[in-house]
Amino acid sequence: MNLVIFGPPGAGKGTQAKRLVSERGYIQLSTGDMLRAARKSGSALGNKVAGIMDRGDLVSDEIVIALIDEQLDLHKGVPGFIFDGFPRTLAQAEALDILLAGRGEKVNFVIRLDVDDAALLKRIAVRFEEQGRDDDNPTAFAVRLKAYNKQTAPLLPFYEGKGVLKVVNGMDDIDAVAGAVSRILDLD
Ligand code: AMP
Repeated sequence: MNLVIFGPPGAGKGTQAKRLVSERGYIQLSTGDMLRAARKSGSALGNKVAGIMDRGDLVSDEIVIALIDEQLDLHKGVPGFIFDGFPRTLAQAEALDILLAGRGEKVNFVIRLDVDDAALLKRIAVRFEEQGRDDDNPTAFAVRLKAYNKQTAPLLPFYEGKGVLKVVNGMDDIDAVAGAVSRILDLD
């Protein structure tokens, strides 16, 4: 199973991905988590992306595609992958198709978590208070939402055209969203 969990920052992608990891043994591939880990470790990559992430801009396609490629090789034979926060541009989506095709696989589903902007703003304000993530501050968040609308949302017609796009109401509570996601995965 190759599932892309899709939605703006704050839609609940990470929360749902973590449920699927514990319930189905899938591997969560969050490029945001990988980049944050690189920063924490003080690696050259981490230092390179720090400023870009703090502003709320996207890091280069080349960097995140290489991270995903590496992870796919590291986890061979697992029951599934959840792509969380990747792909975020058309170039990344096309690269993902190529990476998967090279392994005899494809994207099975893209599940879009639908949440309105007012709810996103509220959720991110709470997360900023609780976790203190630099890029959740209101200025950076506005940039992230803009990047989503400009660079990432256009992937929806790409995946719709492939017949793999499903939409779930991300305004529901966590259990209800998880139930809806599960029902989609069981269609396969
Ligand atoms: P996230 O935790 O997914 O919201 O990602 C946090 C930040 O990491 C983003 O605002 C970007 O700066 C960077 N990032 C994560 N994933 C990607 C991606 N697929 N493409 C470009 N930048 C990314």
